[in-house]
This record gives sequence, C-alpha cells and structure tokens, in this order.
Amino acid sequence: MKRRLADNLKRIRRRIDETCERVDRDPSSITLVAVTKSVGPDVIRSLMELGVSEFGENRAHELAHRAAMANEWLHRRDRDANRSELPRPKWHMIGHVQRNKVGPLLPWVEMIHSVDSLRLAEEIDAQSARLERVTSIMLEVNAGGEASKTGVAVAATTHLAEQIGTLEHLRLCGLMSMAPLTEDESRIRLTFERVRDLFDEVVNARLCGPSFQDLSLGMSNDFEAGIEFGATYVRIGTALFEGVQQVSPVVRTG
Ligand SMILES: *Cc1c(COP(=O)(O)O)cnc(C)c1O
Repeated sequence: MKRRLADNLKRIRRRIDETCERVDRDPSSITLVAVTKSVGPDVIRSLMELGVSEFGENRAHELAHRAAMANEWLHRRDRDANRSELPRPKWHMIGHVQRNKVGPLLPWVEMIHSVDSLRLAEEIDAQSARLERVTSIMLEVNAGGEASKTGVAVAATTHLAEQIGTLEHLRLCGLMSMAPLTEDESRIRLTFERVRDLFDEVVNARLCGPSFQDLSLGMSNDFEAGIEFGATYVRIGTALFEGVQQVSPVVRTG
C-alpha cells in the first residue's frame, strides 16, 4: 500500500512540475493538500511517513478527530529515538462549515478554505478572539454557476472580501473554488479564470491586506488547469489513492 502511495505521489508531483515548467511557475509556490476524507488512518500514517504534511478534510469533526489521532501517533513514534523526525501535519478544512462546528474545528485547523458567508466569518473571528489566535481563511467562490451549490456568488465576492478584511482575528488569504464536474475542459478553465480575475480585482483595488495571496484551485481531475490559473493550493484525493485500498464509505454524522 505504501509503495503504491509513494508511486502515486511521485507521479502527481511530476505532473505538477511539468505544468509549472509549461506555464513558467515555480513548483515550490504550490502546496499539495492530500485530501484524506475517503481513506482510513493507516493511509494517513503512511502518507506522513512519506513526508506528506498537508492534509485536507471536508467535515469538521472528522478533521479534529484525525488531527488528534495523527498527533498521538507522532508523539508515540517520536519516543523511539531511532526514527527520524517527521514534519508536523497541517490540516486544511475544505468542506462547508456549519457555525456550530467552528469551536471543535479551530484548535486543529491550519487553513479554512471554505468560508462562504459573513456570518460564518464573524463566528470564526469571535471564536479565534477567545482563543487569542488569528485564523487563516479563504473565501469559497461559486464560480461554476449552478453546477456547484456551495460558495459565495461571484458578484458578492469582492464586497465580502472587503468586509472580512476588517475582522481582526481572521487572516483572509485568498479564494477557493471548485470547477463543475465535467469533461468539458473549457468550462473548467472558464471557472478558474473567473476566480483568478476576481482575485486580481481584490488585489488591484487593495481591498485586502498583504496576506491575500492564495488561490485554492484544482482537484484530481483539474489540478493542471488550476495551476495554469495561479493555484497556490491543489487539493487532491482520488488520484493519490488509485490502487490503494479505500475504506468503504460509512455514513457519518456531523
Ligand atoms: C473531495 C474534495 C477534493 C478532492 O477531490 P478528488 O477529486 O478526490 O481529488 C478537493 N476539494 C474538495 C472541496 C473536496 O471535497
């Protein structure tokens, strides 16, 4: 299993490198987030052993649970002096966040990619203030039109970015979006282009501070297009776990 993971990882990194070469970008400007929602803890541990340190989950409780588990495993492993130290995992929330889940999520999360309303942003801000921390977030934009139901409408994005920019315990880092699920490459590219244009608009109008510099664009099917349009994060699950035994989908609450 680990061998297969290592091969997949290598292949994805090579594709990232080749795309960067083609569009004249620096591969080190792109963070690969391993989206682990469909695999079990053993696969996560193997990824950590392979040096992967950026993980994505789409449910708050699952993220908290897995992050705690990973830390415990690393802690036990570190007691064995013969083993090389592994990088600390960073956890990315990429799914819709309900306001009542912000509390359990915050202690574990490095970046919330999927903020989609002022009310949610205000809740994260308030809880971050209580924890005396500043939380990094991105705005999820619904740039694919009807096909995707999550995210802020394109027309509302710059105004919301400006409002969120005033919240003291949030660091607004950029925009995230999902392209419609389609084989039609041109629709995918159009979606990413729209997000990139919005990003430029926010930057050029100086609506946000200097931390506004990220684009989270691209999944297994479309990460190359994401990179073309400026992705600094790509979120990859399926392509990473090809041929690796997956846990059967379980019905999870919350
Ligand atoms: C599941 C998921 C991904 C990963 O998708 P794959 O097609 O499996 O690579 C990326 N982003 C979000 C928001 C997801 O929910």
